[in-house]
Amino acid sequence: MLIYLNGKFVEKEEAKVSVFDHGLLYGDGVFEGIRSYDGCIFKLDEHLERLYNSAKYIVLKIPLEYDEMKKAVVETVKVNKLKNAYIRLIITRGEGTLGLSPWTCEKPNVIIIADTIELYPKEYYEKGLKVITASTRRTNVDALNARVKSLNYLNNILAKIEAKIAGALEAFMLNNEGYIVECTGDNVFIIKKDTLCTPPVYQGALKGITRDCVIEIAERLGYRVVEQPFTRFEVYIAEECFLTGTAAEIIPVVEADDRPIGDGKPGKITRKLSTEFHKLTKIDGTMVYM
Ligand code: PMP
Repeated sequence: MLIYLNGKFVEKEEAKVSVFDHGLLYGDGVFEGIRSYDGCIFKLDEHLERLYNSAKYIVLKIPLEYDEMKKAVVETVKVNKLKNAYIRLIITRGEGTLGLSPWTCEKPNVIIIADTIELYPKEYYEKGLKVITASTRRTNVDALNARVKSLNYLNNILAKIEAKIAGALEAFMLNNEGYIVECTGDNVFIIKKDTLCTPPVYQGALKGITRDCVIEIAERLGYRVVEQPFTRFEVYIAEECFLTGTAAEIIPVVEADDRPIGDGKPGKITRKLSTEFHKLTKIDGTMVYM
């Protein structure tokens, strides 16, 4: 496996950064998770735009121009001869001193990994996921704007641990007001009476690219979509529920905190959206192989 590291392709074993990198010391950096389907990178521009916006928010100057970054991502998939890949693009603050100050870090590290991923075992896409509500809260938007996809995922990891202890694979995360905002690495949707509802970004949800894509598909299919805060109550009485994410794609949720959702089986609208989503991944993308 060849890793893109600051302009060079190096073998996985040689792809190393300093132990003084503030990405490691403080989670100081930003990242993206991107997929390629059959040699086409899905929504690459949207991911890069979010990456550059996240970096701008944390005052991190990405050392590559947008077009150079785009080329680097495409090349990383190409040199690894992958068609269906999961790409992890990471920008760390770079090597500095042991203090917090980002000004001691002169050169950000740019890392691109092209690999594969299976976030949840395949069978769960058929039978649906069981989700619990974690007691660990999503980072408050006043502390860190939810639109920033930063390297800080510790509370999401704690929520994931809570899920495992409870025998589930995923957990809903609440914001400080008690509204459900997302899962540990996915956005959440509920459906009732042909209306899809997803938490608004200002409440603490990441502006997911898959989320945006699903909203577009649902509206095209004639469903009403609202971005509104909701609590566990609305999830428990929903007819359908599903999660979205680049790695997760669209996965049905059939149980929340021990209560079946709808009839306890993946919903019809969820299935339909998933089929349409997979159609889109086949026609909408940046070609890797010309
Ligand atoms: N929420 C969080 C916390 C995430 O980390 C992610 C990405 N893994 C998502 C939602 C989904 O975003 P996207 O569809 O852009 O991958």
